[in-house]
Amino acid sequence: MNEAPARCGVIGFPLSHTRSPELHSAFAEQCGVAQSYTVLAVPDSDFEHVVRSFFANGGRGLNVTLPYKQRALEFAEAASERAVRAGAANVLTRQPDGTVLADNVDGIGFLRDLARLQFDPRGAKVCVLGAGGAAAGVIAALLEAGAATVAVLNRNAERVQLLMARMDDPRVVEFSGQGDVFDLVVNATSASLANECPAFPDDVIGPGTLAYDLVYAKEPIPFMQRAARLGARTSDGWGMLAEQAAETFYLWHGVHPDTDFLYP
Ligand code: NDP
Repeated sequence: MNEAPARCGVIGFPLSHTRSPELHSAFAEQCGVAQSYTVLAVPDSDFEHVVRSFFANGGRGLNVTLPYKQRALEFAEAASERAVRAGAANVLTRQPDGTVLADNVDGIGFLRDLARLQFDPRGAKVCVLGAGGAAAGVIAALLEAGAATVAVLNRNAERVQLLMARMDDPRVVEFSGQGDVFDLVVNATSASLANECPAFPDDVIGPGTLAYDLVYAKEPIPFMQRAARLGARTSDGWGMLAEQAAETFYLWHGVHPDTDFLYP
């Protein structure tokens, strides 16, 4: 008798452009795993109710995206250390005892993509633009990977202080504007979604810089265009999305899919 497919999905709002279903269905096919993957585009007032009934009805796991990553962390009965440090969860998984575990694999996805791009974060001087949940996940991963310093620049300076307090690490500092050139500049703002480039001085980027935008899009991304004009190597966030999806698949099914086919 065939096993019933494991019920998984993604929850967020809006979700019209999500690429998660295509990634998960390719992984399931490659690994011979029976999985169904639902897109749950739910309005604000329904989040907890929809998640509760998804798991009560036997759901195995949910990816969580904007704007619910913090609420997902609060919803779950237990949380991984990396989710607590990021202050946000992007995966919810049903445990064998029926409770729900919140986790965050954005940081792993980001580090795996840096490795693919042959960028070694050990000893690197990094500038992170943005101070939201994605910035927190990326910074926590960079610290763990041995970055030398992480200078944070955000439109709202108060959020930089909150982020520094959460990270509680002397390597994380407020961007000083002292004319430093960085090895890695990460755009962790959502400005690219509005086709805008966040403010930053030109001299943070030089020819040896990797400029990485967390957003992925078919259209040219203004941050990447500006960074390329300044001589940097650039990347969008497709690899981060793909690698975090692969890690999620492993959490749910115990198999690591091969992701090479996603980078033609
Ligand atoms: P949050 O809403 O938590 O934070 C948004 C951040 O962007 C804040 O720092 C905000 O600044 C800043 N911002 C928004 N608009 C502008 C603008 N026009 N100019 C300058 N700064 C701006 O979002 P997240 O941290 O969760 O996500 C950030 C981005 O990362 C999103 O676009 C998301 O799609 C992407 N992402 C990609 C992933 C991937 O796998 N590739 C994974 C996770 C996220 P302020 O505080 O001043 O408002």
